[in-house]
Amino acid sequence: SILVLGSVNVDITSYGARLPAPGETVHAESYAIALGGKGANQAVAAARLGGDAKLAGRTGTDAFGQMARDWLARTGVDTGPLWQDPDHPTGIASIGVSRDGENAITVVGGANMAIGAEDVARLDSAFASAKVLLLQLETPLAAGLAAAGKMRAAGGMTVLDPAPAPRAPFGSEVWRAVDAMTPNETETEALTGLRPTDSASAARAASILIERGLRIAVIKMGAGGVYWRAPEGEGHLPAMHVTAIDTVAAGDCFNGGLAFALARGDSLPEALRIANACGALATTRRGASDAAPTLAEVESLLKS
Ligand code: ADP
Repeated sequence: SILVLGSVNVDITSYGARLPAPGETVHAESYAIALGGKGANQAVAAARLGGDAKLAGRTGTDAFGQMARDWLARTGVDTGPLWQDPDHPTGIASIGVSRDGENAITVVGGANMAIGAEDVARLDSAFASAKVLLLQLETPLAAGLAAAGKMRAAGGMTVLDPAPAPRAPFGSEVWRAVDAMTPNETETEALTGLRPTDSASAARAASILIERGLRIAVIKMGAGGVYWRAPEGEGHLPAMHVTAIDTVAAGDCFNGGLAFALARGDSLPEALRIANACGALATTRRGASDAAPTLAEVESLLKS
């Protein structure tokens, strides 16, 4: 199975003519409420493909927490390890989108930021059955690293999506604790100082990540596809040809797909082909977790 330790948010998006200036109130035209948070998005992406995905983390005991749990359960994500925290509110993202496509986002981490050692301790039985642990940076990293240690001891691997981009360099313990990292272009630049604009610059950035002690570097390059480097080799996979309309959560669908394929025993190059197709399909649909493809859709894109 796939174990995700990460964030759960309720995204509240309002669509109006323009964004408000500080101190101003504007009337927008419509709004949408959806499940978000990188942890939830990645778990949903793995479950949509048919993976046995468990999501660990926290919501509050409030109505938004119940909404998020219902959404997750409906997509088949196992919310057993998702703790209901009586002391913190469910995380929310308050998103404004203007007619010209500009956005302004405020995230309140709430219960997500309270994740700690107790959450990892509660997970004990989950490590025995999990093959892949997925982490991101919307929840406290210390708990993620503790989970990575347990995952390795149980014989599984950990993939850290360093998103949102870290503000301070990772210590050496981070590079050693996780098996793979999957930075996008911005995150690669934050980690290495190099912007991966083509396969030569991506190869240089990947080498820097490997020199720090990482085993598998996977650089997500948007419409440029993905560059990877690992003990079994390295290479560039061009992006699949699709009509991209909304790139929100492409990276999360990529990571969910990567974990799904690795957990079922695919080789790394094969798992990256699946992930690359998942990321591409996610850009053809609006929304975050709503944009995740099924395995049939992935297989049909890979055959085309
Ligand atoms: P993030 O969403 O984290 O910023 P990217 O934008 O790099 O990540 O997208 C993740 C992956 O999704 C890419 O590596 C690629 O596989 C796929 N992808 C993203 N944008 C496109 C696109 N325009 N066409 C095809 N595939 C895409």
